[in-house]
Formats: sequence, C-alpha cells, structure tokens
Amino acid sequence: MTPDRHHEVLIAGAGPVGMAALLALRRAGVDAAAVDRGTGPTDYPKARVVSARSMALLHALGAGPAVRAAALPGDWTERILAARDLTGPELLRIESSARPDRVLCTQDRLEHVLAARVRGAVHHSCTALAVDQAPDHVTLTVRTPDGGVVRPTADYVVLADGCRGLGAGDALPGAGIRRRMMRQVSIRVDAPLRPLVAGREAFISYLLGDRQPVALLVVDGDRDWILMTLAGRTETAADYPLPRVRELLAAVTGGPVPDVAVRGVRFSDSAHRVAQRYAVGRVVRAGDAAHELPPTGASGLNLGLADVAALTGRLTALVRGRGGPGLLTEYETERRTAGEATGRWARERFGTVRLLSRAHSNGDPADLDRAARELACYLDHHETGRCVCAAPTTARTAAEEAISRA
Ligand SMILES: Cc1cc2nc3c(=O)[nH]c(=O)nc-3n(C[C@H](O)[C@H](O)[C@H](O)COP(=O)(O)OP(=O)(O)OC[C@H]3O[C@@H](n4cnc5c(N)ncnc54)[C@H](O)[C@@H]3O)c2cc1C
Repeated sequence: MTPDRHHEVLIAGAGPVGMAALLALRRAGVDAAAVDRGTGPTDYPKARVVSARSMALLHALGAGPAVRAAALPGDWTERILAARDLTGPELLRIESSARPDRVLCTQDRLEHVLAARVRGAVHHSCTALAVDQAPDHVTLTVRTPDGGVVRPTADYVVLADGCRGLGAGDALPGAGIRRRMMRQVSIRVDAPLRPLVAGREAFISYLLGDRQPVALLVVDGDRDWILMTLAGRTETAADYPLPRVRELLAAVTGGPVPDVAVRGVRFSDSAHRVAQRYAVGRVVRAGDAAHELPPTGASGLNLGLADVAALTGRLTALVRGRGGPGLLTEYETERRTAGEATGRWARERFGTVRLLSRAHSNGDPADLDRAARELACYLDHHETGRCVCAAPTTARTAAEEAISRA
C-alpha cells in the first residue's frame, strides 16, 4: 500500500461485494483499488445460491462463464426438501422448473473467480481503521501488514467491509440498529452423503429429527457438507467434538455414517440491520456493510451484488465529472428501499423452520401448508430478486402436490 497514492475510488473490504465493485470500476477505466484485512479470498462456503440477477451482473463483468464453471453441475438451486431424516419419507418437496441462469456457486469459489480478475488491485492484510471526509476527497486510514499506518486518499470510498467492519459501525453516520435474533452453528463435515441425497439434490434440506431441526447445506455434493443448527449462547467449537457431530449427523441421515471428519465449526448470528444512510458525502456503503440479514431465503450476497450493479455506473459517472451528488442520493434511496424490503421479507419468514418443525410433530396440514408457501417464496425470491410471494409458480404447485400427498 503506497501511503501517498490518490485513487479515484478506494474500497474497504474485498469480499464478493468489494471485489465485484472493484472489477466493475476497473473495467470502466476507473482508477480503483481495495484494501482487505484478510490474506486472500475466504475458504468458507457461506453464500451458495447465485441468483439469475447476480449472474447477469457477473456476465456483464466477464466473469459469468468462470462462475458457471466453478458452480455445481446439476440443478441444486431448484429444490428445497423437508423430512424427518435423509432416508425417511419427505414431508415436503418444493421444486421449480430448472432456471439455467441460477447457479449454486459457493462463496469461496466465487471469491476465487473474482480475485483472479482483480489481482494486483487488492492490498491484503490491510485493515481500514477510519474514514475522514474533506469537501473534495476522502482519507482512509489503513493499518498495513508491518503494523504501520498509511492514509491514502480517494475521490470516493466504498465501505464493503461486511457486517463487522467500519461500515457497520459508527465510522459513518446511519449504520442502523442491529437486532440479534439467534446464534447458529455451521459444522462443515467430510462425510459420504452423496448416495443418500441421490434424487434429492436440494440447496437446503431441513431434517427435522426428533429433537432439533438441522439444515443440511450442500458444498460439493459429494463429501463436503454443512450442518447448520441452533447454537447455545456460550458454545464454542470445543462443544462439538467428533462423537457429538456423529450423533447430529446420524439424526440427519437416519443412521450412523462411517468415515466422518469435522472440517470446521463456525458460529454466526442471525441478525437484522439495514443502514439508514447508504451514502454520506463521498463515502458509500454496499453489501453486508449496508445490510445484515437473517439467513432466511439466503439473500445477503445477491442483495450486495445488486448494490454493486446500482453503484458502480454512478461512481464512474461521478469520477468522470458527469452528474452530481444526486447520483449517490438516488443510490441510497434505491438500495435502502431494496434492503429494507428484503430485510422485512426475511424477518417475516424467520419462523418458517419452527412452523415446519411443528407441522412435523403435530401433522397439522394447515401448518405444513403455510410452511410450504413460505419456502416456495425462497425459490421465487432467488429467481427474481423480488421479496413477495408471487403468483403461483411450478414451485408452489409442487408444494401443494406435496401437501395433498402428505
Ligand atoms: C453461515 C452463512 C451462510 C450464508 N449463506 C448465504 C446464502 O446462501 N446466500 C446468500 O446470498 N448469502 C448468504 N450468506 C450471507 C453472505 O455470506 C454475505 O451476505 C456476503 O458475504 C456479503 O458479502 P460482502 O462482500 O458484503 O461482505 P463479506 O463477505 O463479509 O466481506 C467483507 C470483507 O471485508 C473485509 N474486512 C472487514 N473489515 C475490514 C476492515 N476494517 N478493513 C479491511 N477489510 C475489512 C473482510 O476481510 C472481508 O473480506 C451467508 C452468511 C453466513 C454467515
């Protein structure tokens, strides 16, 4: 990182949103660079479904074919399942007809695709500490890998530093109020589950078991999977030794699974925060820095990429001297509205798994019907980026068929 270097745009955070913004700006000829406190792309497959709308952006950035190549083959994005366990009868199956533009590309793979296209423009192991504005420029204070501090300047700064970075705090006014809803644990396992899911390929399967519902998330569709469930307030990775994970997995699969290893245990909050201010002067928020959403409907990444699509053309116009600050006001209005609507949508559906669980234990078709309708919205939501239950779709019809069979 060069201390006295001025850029047209500096980006704090090179996750998927920061890198997509960097790529879009650089392709438009803008002198842009990013700093990221990490050492490189994440190795954790957090987000997985890349919506058709996000794919359209990635195609426009020249990364579409590489993302498709990095994605799982098959139609994993088109199905949601609920059952007692993987080998038992299905309680619910929601399917949409295949949408070739929507892919299941795990976040680590997506980040590698983007990183290959912005190489040299991201300064790793550099932490943004503060942002200060003057009328005609912004100064970003950055801690460098050697522990020093540098203060590069830019015409504009994008805070794309996720839900724990500067953008989510009070470095900029209007971060919004964070409401923590629950704590969850993601246990990444190496286990031979492929034969058990054959014919049941789904981006998420809710396995309701006898005790606690567990969501099974696909990573490579073969041996790499994530079990996600509620976590105790004070639990740590040490609370998930191999015997406990084996037990959880046995509940998921309906019997003991040989040859299991734990690849990692991570905790995350289900929380809700949408910034009141997406743009303050020459500094803007994008992605999780602007909005942290509960996992319902898996919208965080796609919402962030839609921020990028709305922002980068406007920033390009601004640094070229075309248009005024109204462009960023417009960005704020447009994207805050989308963030609030998506956040509301996700919160309203937060109880769906509980509803499913109840339907599983009491067999009440009304509960199952409601849960099916909510889950069918997830597929609509991925497909269109809208936050409403749309008119009947193949997904809805399949859900209703499942109910009548149940
Ligand atoms: C378990 C889990 C499952 C999820 N599943 C889905 C899903 O299926 N679909 C979906 O759409 N979304 C999902 N999400 C949400 C999704 O992962 C996020 O919305 C997405 O990562 C947001 O991207 P981002 O680039 O805005 O932020 P991040 O991915 O958080 O990236 C922020 C970057 O900023 C860097 N950074 C942070 N602070 C600083 C600083 N001070 N200085 C410099 N760099 C900094 C970090 O190192 C990081 O690289 C999931 C999240 C979790 C936790």
